[in-house]
Amino acid sequence: MFGWLKRRRRAQILSEPFPAEWGGLLDRDVALWRLLSDAERLRLQDDLRIFMAERNWEPCGGLELTDPMRAVIAGQACILTLGRSVDAFDHVRTILVYPDRFFAPEVEEDEFGVVTESCDDREGEAWERGQVVLSWGDLRQDGRRLDGRNLVLHEFSHQLDLLDFIAAARGVTKEEAEMHRRWRKVLLGAYEALCELDDAGKKDPVLDSYGAEDESECFAVSTEAFFERPVRLRNFHPDLYRVLSEYYNQDPAVRMESTNQGANEPEQERTRDKKNSKKTSHRKGRKGSQG
Ligand SMILES: [Zn+2]
Repeated sequence: MFGWLKRRRRAQILSEPFPAEWGGLLDRDVALWRLLSDAERLRLQDDLRIFMAERNWEPCGGLELTDPMRAVIAGQACILTLGRSVDAFDHVRTILVYPDRFFAPEVEEDEFGVVTESCDDREGEAWERGQVVLSWGDLRQDGRRLDGRNLVLHEFSHQLDLLDFIAAARGVTKEEAEMHRRWRKVLLGAYEALCELDDAGKKDPVLDSYGAEDESECFAVSTEAFFERPVRLRNFHPDLYRVLSEYYNQDPAVRMESTNQGANEPEQERTRDKKNSKKTSHRKGRKGSQG
């Protein structure tokens, strides 16, 4: 979209008052919203409306997708870009929403070239070409609590992938290049450590072992922890916390401590199905997880 047209359309969207009932909706359905300062909420109110208006939304599987539902999704996605610009999502064109988990074909090739086709249930997917698929049932449940799992943050963080960001960076200064090298080193170190723990059948105290799938999943689960369990992440992985803090330009541990919720970060991880994915940036369904 041309710059002037985009600015004009955005100004038009923001000239309307923020729907009063959405405040209560976000209070109820987006736990992260409750942590934000007044200034951050005002910013998010603008960003989420822009985000909503600039995406194609496709309800699937008979879902009736309403504006309040879009606001719950957009409100969580835009928390990722609160320290940057909602423009970071410009390449995300389409968001497909299913009522619940959906089935997706999976084709895998083993080391001998044998191809296996299967179908598994998933709660979300993110495609490189700017398409995100979500399960409403799962994202709603995740959004309401701060337990280190958040489907919307997970899938949209794939669209902002730190390693992709570094790979695409052009014309950076020497200092920025040095910072990117450090980011990469820290993230890959965290990934390797997760893999070692996973191989030994152990769990990280804060990061979900699904992050051992590949580097992009490690970034996605780290992002979930960064926003939902930031104090624990900062305690157990200070370097990783710092990298994410620089990348997202936010300090959610301070935000959480200021609301006195830091002490309530849960000790227990919920279970998550894992394995079988290649670098497809999807998150599989959780069989047997709680309610
Ligand atoms: Zn993923």
